[in-house]
Amino acid sequence: MINIVIFGPPGAGKGTQSDKLRERFDLVHISTGDVFRALDPESDLAKLAKSYSDKGNLVPDEITIKILENEVQKHPQANGVIYDGFPRTTAQAAALDTFLGEKSASITMALALEVEEDELRERLKKRALDSGRPDDANPEIIQNRIDVYNAQTAPVADFYKEKGKYTGIDGIGSIEDIFNRLADTIEAKV
Ligand code: ADP
Repeated sequence: MINIVIFGPPGAGKGTQSDKLRERFDLVHISTGDVFRALDPESDLAKLAKSYSDKGNLVPDEITIKILENEVQKHPQANGVIYDGFPRTTAQAAALDTFLGEKSASITMALALEVEEDELRERLKKRALDSGRPDDANPEIIQNRIDVYNAQTAPVADFYKEKGKYTGIDGIGSIEDIFNRLADTIEAKV
């Protein structure tokens, strides 16, 4: 089983690339952001998650970890999973290791899309035009997401570096070029 973490700041292209990787390698794509957005909007859980995500803050670990585990359990026959937007804290990374360990599985690799902040702000501003996402809608929220990434999520890189599982990928260029960089890295390792 292949378990790939697609890592990177908001706007780095994780969703776009995860979708293409899913097709190429026959993986299940789990995006915690998508899972939160797909919850019944009237449910308490959806309202709670939205109270964090609309401001660009992280949903608390306890909730997010449960949601992720529940999602993985839906695909017992999967050839592999691509984790997009999870883990976003070192506590989530540790929880994922424990969870996979219980299934005698592990993270194969973490691929980090590297894009500088000015470019992220531009991309998110453009995405706001048609995403309809409240967290894309205003520059202050976008900046908060980038700040939260730097403070809480960037340390997850060290978690995987220490395990020798981290590869940085240049996230600038055409979607196809970036995809080829990711796919080549995966093919070299599996
Ligand atoms: P982005 O475009 O910023 O990568 P996502 O669609 O992955 O956004 O996530 C949107 C929001 O959902 C995040 O800003 C956060 O509030 C919440 N969220 C998603 N994944 C996680 C996670 N692993 N931990 C905590 N909150 C999360």
